[in-house]
Amino acid sequence: MRLLSIAALAVLAMAPPAGAAVNVMATTEDLADLVRQVGGDRVKVESIARGYQDPHFVEAKPSFILKLAKADLLVAVGRELEIGWLPPLIQQSRNAKVQPGAEGYLDASLTAKVLEIPTGQITRAMGDVHPLGNPHYWLDPGNGRRIAKAIADKLSQMAPADAAYFASRYADFDRRLAEAEKRWDATMAPYKGLKVVTYHRSWANFVDRFSLDVIGYVEPRPGIPPSPGHTIDLIGEMKRQNVKILMVEPYFDLKTPQSIGRETGAKVVVMPPSVGGEKEITDYISLFDYDLNLLVAAIKETGAK
Ligand SMILES: [Zn+2]
Repeated sequence: MRLLSIAALAVLAMAPPAGAAVNVMATTEDLADLVRQVGGDRVKVESIARGYQDPHFVEAKPSFILKLAKADLLVAVGRELEIGWLPPLIQQSRNAKVQPGAEGYLDASLTAKVLEIPTGQITRAMGDVHPLGNPHYWLDPGNGRRIAKAIADKLSQMAPADAAYFASRYADFDRRLAEAEKRWDATMAPYKGLKVVTYHRSWANFVDRFSLDVIGYVEPRPGIPPSPGHTIDLIGEMKRQNVKILMVEPYFDLKTPQSIGRETGAKVVVMPPSVGGEKEITDYISLFDYDLNLLVAAIKETGAK
């Protein structure tokens, strides 16, 4: 070990003692990546849902209970996105730290800009899986920044000795995200107001951020499978408005989208809404790079405008 420089020894001396990392579980790979961006080597983080899965419907495997039992912090999307699978996992973990309302439970939606919040009666009874507003809000980089800040604040509260470290990691992420946003804005500038259709309402924040116009959905309501009557209406509307882009999340059956594509001449674009949705999508920033590349290639191919 003679080759270790004084600087390297100083770094070793500053490293946290073994086991000092905050043990974090995130419900999705997007949140897990934001924890990693801010937490660096002072956190250990794993996600429950995989990026290629529909986050509304995830199998509640017993292995997650064991992991949650050992967690210091649970970061969730909230707005009932995980209502079908997370509550029993939390309950069975018997870990007081990560119960909703406890210090180790962070609902990332609390500081995010959430769209489509119903003003009238809550409609879950009708099968709508977005009764508390659109839970796919991480697909706006502004929200990625807000979530990262909330995570940095929470980690600093839980590990005050590392607060400066988390603050500097957050500042670095904020800077890299701002640079990426300039690139994305330039890419999307020619396509403001472009009309698209999406399968599920996963892209409300995404289209809001990049000024696209969603004129309809393949699902009649969020979480309700396509019906023949709704599909016929949608095809008519797409023809009337000359819509050439149909965005589909990778976990939906392509049969209906493809028949809509044949009828209307629209291109079916399978767009992953999460980190880990494709192997190239390794982090939060590359998620947008990947999706915007796909989208622009489809726009150019169809001549959509
Ligand atoms: Zn949804």
